[in-house]
Amino acid sequence: MRKLKLVLLVGDGMGDRPVPSLGNKTPLEVASTPNLDEMARRGRVGLMDVIAPGVPPGSDTAHLALFGLDPFEWYEGRGPFEALGVGAELDQGDVALRGNFATVKEENGKLIVVDRRAGRKVPEAEELVKTLNEKLNKVKDVEVRFYHATEHRLAVVLHGPGLSDEVSDTDPHEVGKPVALSKPLKDTPEAKKTAEILNEITLKSYEILKDHPANLERVKRGLPPANIVLLRGAGMMRKRLPKLQELFGIRAAAVGATALVLGVAKAVGMDIYVPKGATGGIDTDYRAKAREAVKLLEDYDMVFVHLKGTDAASHDGLVEEKVRMVEALDYIAGYIMDYYDGEAVFAVTPDHATPLTVKEHTGDPVPVLLYAPTQIPDEVGEYNERSAIKGSLRIRGKDLIRLMVNYANRAKKFGA
Ligand code: ZN
Ligand code: ZN
Repeated sequence: MRKLKLVLLVGDGMGDRPVPSLGNKTPLEVASTPNLDEMARRGRVGLMDVIAPGVPPGSDTAHLALFGLDPFEWYEGRGPFEALGVGAELDQGDVALRGNFATVKEENGKLIVVDRRAGRKVPEAEELVKTLNEKLNKVKDVEVRFYHATEHRLAVVLHGPGLSDEVSDTDPHEVGKPVALSKPLKDTPEAKKTAEILNEITLKSYEILKDHPANLERVKRGLPPANIVLLRGAGMMRKRLPKLQELFGIRAAAVGATALVLGVAKAVGMDIYVPKGATGGIDTDYRAKAREAVKLLEDYDMVFVHLKGTDAASHDGLVEEKVRMVEALDYIAGYIMDYYDGEAVFAVTPDHATPLTVKEHTGDPVPVLLYAPTQIPDEVGEYNERSAIKGSLRIRGKDLIRLMVNYANRAKKFGA
């Protein structure tokens, strides 16, 4: 039996509810989506509870499910995923944190936060991270590694014995407050040790960054210096997640630009590709993602393409922009179809709904589309929230990839 490729297209937060300014239709209903509708005509649509009925998913837990893992069993917080998504390597027992370059000033012997994001635009970030990795790579017996994410954001990884993620942040989360002291949240030697390490990293980062040439230059130009690293959201990599290779025997690649989601993809064994021009926002170069996906399908069994713009527009309540991003996903679907129609199993889905009227993730079931040449189609010829009600699929998020693997003629038999 011929094995087919797998193509998973996710419009983040794409699911919606009736939007008054769209005549109570949804963005998927009003957007022009000839390619998605064609796939719906030749495939199946339906409703999917990504985590469980009525549970509003985070993008991390949702993608764990879409990659076949039960998030209730495997999810341990976002920290490790964020770090993996910006290129960190993580071993079991490592602690990952999110960091911000921030601006502080000295006042009565205290460090007071002036700007939690150091003006947000920090083009010197790579250079500052390099200096930190040279001068602050060890505290006690623990290795410390800094990774630049986007703008003022970074990931920090602690690698060594006896660590814990049960520690509070050094980011006070408020301007005008002194830099916070990390405290153990549990009375264990591991938490105590880790809190001490975080405090040392935070204070030393100030010593290293305050007179850094890049910051002296920023001050000269009237910009807030990126003179400290504030830490938050400690998370430990306790379990090694099963890889798609082990679960389904497939080699997979991820195309996107959102660290959190790419981190989940990497944790399940996908190789990560961020095409030039992909931003994780509504200004992303979605055409570049489509080209990258087609290129990768030559070498990989599966390609996952993530489009964040649908969710970004939803959180900001931008109706027209969300419609445009849905059409961008339709473009990606059509572009890949031009090369792989008949050769691949296609699935299109949101990871959750982010209704424009709510501006937050909700637990609504999402419309899902599955198109494979090996599958008998249902009667529905459109892909949107309303048509999905009449469709034939009723599945959970973690079932989707298994159905894809099955129709790709790659599933292993359960039993004799
Ligand atoms: Zn999401
Ligand atoms: Zn969101």
